[in-house]
Amino acid sequence: MYLTIKGLAKSFGENEVLKNIDFAIDKGKVISIIGPSGSGKTTLLRCLNTLEQPSKGLFTFEDGLTLDFSKKVNKQDLLKLRRKSGMVFQSYNLFPHKTALENVTEGPLIVQRRNKKEVTKLAKELLTKVGLKDKMDLYPNQLSGGQQQRVGIARALAIQPELMLFDEPTSALDPELIGEVLRVIKDLVNEGWTMIIVTHEIQFAAQVSDEVLFMDGGYIVEQGSPDKVIRNPQEPRTKQFLDRIL
Ligand code: ADP
Repeated sequence: MYLTIKGLAKSFGENEVLKNIDFAIDKGKVISIIGPSGSGKTTLLRCLNTLEQPSKGLFTFEDGLTLDFSKKVNKQDLLKLRRKSGMVFQSYNLFPHKTALENVTEGPLIVQRRNKKEVTKLAKELLTKVGLKDKMDLYPNQLSGGQQQRVGIARALAIQPELMLFDEPTSALDPELIGEVLRVIKDLVNEGWTMIIVTHEIQFAAQVSDEVLFMDGGYIVEQGSPDKVIRNPQEPRTKQFLDRIL
C-alpha cells in the first residue's frame, strides 16, 4: 500500500469530528469520499496533509515514513508528510495579485526553491494540459470559476506530489462549468495519479473511483468498490443519503 491509516481521530475541543478512521490507498488508485455535510470529509482530507493535525492515528507510507499522532511527532516528519500531497480547494485559494502562471510557479519557486527556468517551463506545460495555454498571463478575477479551478489543479501538480487531494473541487462552480473541471480530473485518473477526492458528484465518483468511502458522523460507515457502495449500498445510512441526492 502507498499509504495506510489506522485509528485516525480528530477533535476540535470537545467535538470529535473524526472517529477511528482506517483506510489504505495503493499507488495509482482513486478513492472518493462521499457523505452528508458535516460528516468529516474535509477534515479527513486536511488531516492527510496536516492542514489539520490529527489528534490520534498512525500513518504509514510505503517508503517507510511513519507518523504516530498519539505521540509527539517531529517537525521534520510533518514537513515530509506535507510535501507528499498537492491539494485542490473548493474555493480555489489562488493569489489574487498573481497571474495564472505566477500562481502555478509560486510553490515550486518559493517553497521548493527550484530553478526558475525549469519551473516556468513546467508551469506552462501544466497550464496547457489543463486547457489554459492562452490564459497564463491573466489574473484570477479575469478567469471564470472553472478556469480558476483548473489553475488550482495545475498549481497542485506543479509541486510534483505523490498524492493529489481534491476537496469538493466543483462545488463552488456554476453547473455549466463543472464538466470542464471533471474532465481535467478524469485525465489525471487516466494518467495514473494517486488521488483522494471529496465530492458530491456521485456519478463522477462512481465512474472514476477504485474505492468509495461513505462517511457519516465522523465514521467511515461503508467502504468498497463503487459497484458496492454506490450501486448496491448495504448500510441504511448510505442508502438514505444516496436516495436523497440521486
Ligand atoms: P464535511 O466536509 O463532511 O462537510 P467537515 O470536515 O467540514 O465536514 O466538518 C466536520 C465537523 O467538524 C463539523 O461539525 C464542523 O463544524 C467541524 N469543524 C470543521 N473544522 C473545524 C474547525 N476548524 N474548528 C472547529 N470545528 C470544525
